[in-house]
Amino acid sequence: MQSTAPAAPDSATPTPTTPAFRRDAHSTSDPTSIWVIANKKHPLQPADYAPTDLVRPDMRNVNGQPVRQVIAPALAQMLAAAAQSGLQFQLQSGYRSYATQVSVYNAIVASSGRAAADTSSARPGFSEHQTGLAVDLSAYPASCTLQACFAGTPQGTWLAANAYRYGFVLRYPEGKEQITGYTYEPWHYRYVGTQLAAEMHATGTQTLEEFFGVTGGDYANAG
Ligand SMILES: [Zn+2]
Repeated sequence: MQSTAPAAPDSATPTPTTPAFRRDAHSTSDPTSIWVIANKKHPLQPADYAPTDLVRPDMRNVNGQPVRQVIAPALAQMLAAAAQSGLQFQLQSGYRSYATQVSVYNAIVASSGRAAADTSSARPGFSEHQTGLAVDLSAYPASCTLQACFAGTPQGTWLAANAYRYGFVLRYPEGKEQITGYTYEPWHYRYVGTQLAAEMHATGTQTLEEFFGVTGGDYANAG
């Protein structure tokens, strides 16, 4: 008779389970929290929230945007680990202010209408980039920048497999548009800290909305 072996872990480095994990360790509504959920159902409160600890990350930075200081060391560690595999990244977007989002969004509304604006830009106060905890990463040299095909680049593949080890999660996974409100964005990573990232990885939970049971999807007054 064959014995039934337990299923092997799905990565070479086993993820230790985190018995001490607590779902209430951080707020999901406080904009300063590393677990804050900003989506099309849950704007930041206040809508014009701005972090007070913005720094310039030490990396190629296409638009010169800062990130919150709390994520800079993790970002540096992640990029150093990728560099060990010969992979380089650049930052396409980090923190974007409420005022920036107002001008970007309103310009698209003026030229193409609100429906078109909502497909390409978050409404002011609703963008995760306003938290300073989200990064749009691209390959260096550039390949498939801000395109779905980034997922198939060595950099995109590496991030998908390893970002959680540094506290980052792929925020808008493929096939989760009804839950996150956004189509697949293999370049958009969100810092949540290593505890939550490891817990989501260990439990196979792909979105913050599903993990915390928070509503998402499209705007309440879409269209
Ligand atoms: Zn993004």
